[in-house]
Amino acid sequence: MSRQHACPEELLAFALEGEPLNLAAHQHLAGCPWCQQQVACYQKVATYLVSRLYRSRCPSATTLSYYCLPGALSAEERHQIAEHLAHCPLCASEYAETRQLLETS
Ligand SMILES: [Zn+2]
Ligand SMILES: [Zn+2]
Repeated sequence: MSRQHACPEELLAFALEGEPLNLAAHQHLAGCPWCQQQVACYQKVATYLVSRLYRSRCPSATTLSYYCLPGALSAEERHQIAEHLAHCPLCASEYAETRQLLETS
């Protein structure tokens, strides 16, 4: 067995983007614990990065409550938050709760 390990770039693309591996790399991966571990490791890092990015883009609770008050934020800020709410279930539910609180008080 003189074959080298699969190319790290291919493994990375496979782990992160789900790009299909070429046949040789695919067969190699199936029989190589080291490369399998590389893929698992890349995927772990990717999951971590995505979750960090996701959280760090969330507006603060204060900003969200300002969003409920007319005129408290600039049009630009409101637009950004509206876009974020459309993609982030965490903030969307927090926003719904805040609105409810404000409306019933
Ligand atoms: Zn390998
Ligand atoms: Zn969010």
